[in-house]
Amino acid sequence: GATGSANTGTRFDLEKETELRFEVEAGERVQLELLSGLAEIFGSELNRNKKYMFGPGSKIAVFTWQGCSVSLSGKTEVAYISRDTPMLLYLNTHAALEQMRQQAERDNERGPRVMVVGPTDVGKSTVCRLLLNYAVRLGRRPTLVELDVGQSGVSVPGTMSALCIERPADVEEGFSVQAPLVYHFGSTTPGTNIKLYNKLTSTLAEVFSQRCEVNRKASVGGCIINTCGWVKGSGYQALVHCASAFQVDVVLVLDQERLYNELKRDLPHFVRVVLLPKSGGVVERSKDCRRESRDEKIREYFYGFRGTSFYPHAFDVRFSDVRIYKIGAPSIPDSCLPLGMSQDDTQLKLVPVSPGRDLTHHVLSVSCAEDDTGDGTSARGRGVLESPVCGFIVVTAVDTQAQVMTVLSPAPRPLPRHTLLIMDIRFIDLK
Ligand code: ADP
Repeated sequence: GATGSANTGTRFDLEKETELRFEVEAGERVQLELLSGLAEIFGSELNRNKKYMFGPGSKIAVFTWQGCSVSLSGKTEVAYISRDTPMLLYLNTHAALEQMRQQAERDNERGPRVMVVGPTDVGKSTVCRLLLNYAVRLGRRPTLVELDVGQSGVSVPGTMSALCIERPADVEEGFSVQAPLVYHFGSTTPGTNIKLYNKLTSTLAEVFSQRCEVNRKASVGGCIINTCGWVKGSGYQALVHCASAFQVDVVLVLDQERLYNELKRDLPHFVRVVLLPKSGGVVERSKDCRRESRDEKIREYFYGFRGTSFYPHAFDVRFSDVRIYKIGAPSIPDSCLPLGMSQDDTQLKLVPVSPGRDLTHHVLSVSCAEDDTGDGTSARGRGVLESPVCGFIVVTAVDTQAQVMTVLSPAPRPLPRHTLLIMDIRFIDLK
């Protein structure tokens, strides 16, 4: 039940195995405090008498295994207690994964590689976060593989990445992202360039496997792969491809029986495919809401969490000092392809972009590839496509006369590298 007034906050007393769900109104903030008992948010434990702040649009569940009292102050769109949660099923899933890790440890094998799939807004990212938190709280070092190019939990949208989890997610900010391994995809949906999407999935799988070979803890910890909500056609094929590239052992299907049946049919029999219900607390997000959270993610990259911690730099970059590419040429009919060339080649091609006014507001990835002659193969032989990115800039202005563009960058000039990859994604810097 809830009691209290607007000034002191509303007190909620939760029985064991229940959760308080709330959403923060647009333009508002809500403060949460644990008064007694034990509680967690998506697997991260709350500290007693610490004030947690949640920004506009946050959708939160405070779950308690043992029972607790919390207070909420600020404007919530909804706030209610639910007894009906799938948390016990999620905990059992974690327990099964932990058993696999123990067995891996005993038999000197590798730990579970888990792929989480389902349509949009079923709580995939939340389940990933929960499983990673529970694993790291037991001292494991699981890896988060983020393949959701629309809503990345690790880097800016339009990227695919891997992050070794070393501590539970911060209740307000999520997982700390020091040294993630990030690749440029360039748009918010895999369908824009499915060949590239599958190729980068394979690249991440290779890098992860290499790491497992030299790092026993990473190998035993295994990985949790978050995927896109596109589960039909090529989107479905991308899931099957991912399962094989990572050699996943477990697939958790959230909410969709049809997808569950298809994967059971199409994946090798030794892959355990498990159907899990979605939580009634997961709220559908509108297109606008998704766009806003993408924007917020980019703003966070430049300005830090809540816009106060980082101070980005603005400087001019001469066109002649950089090489800008787009990955993938527009597809042309098979009959028009030059002899010996396939559609794959066009989708994975580096196409030089000549800088113009239309670059304004675009996000550019700064490739880690060694600067070279521009044929896509660096001096060390690794192509731009397979190279991770070392950061992002946004073009804020273009002066074609002077042949320079002004960019927003997290670090002062000069740019660390000169190969830039253009994203479809734009960011308008309102600061
Ligand atoms: P998906 O990854 O499938 O798109 P998310 O995991 O991002 O879905 O969840 C969608 C939204 O629902 C997020 O804002 C998340 O914080 C919220 N959410 C997830 N589980 C709950 C819950 N039990 N109660 C309230 N909100 C939740």
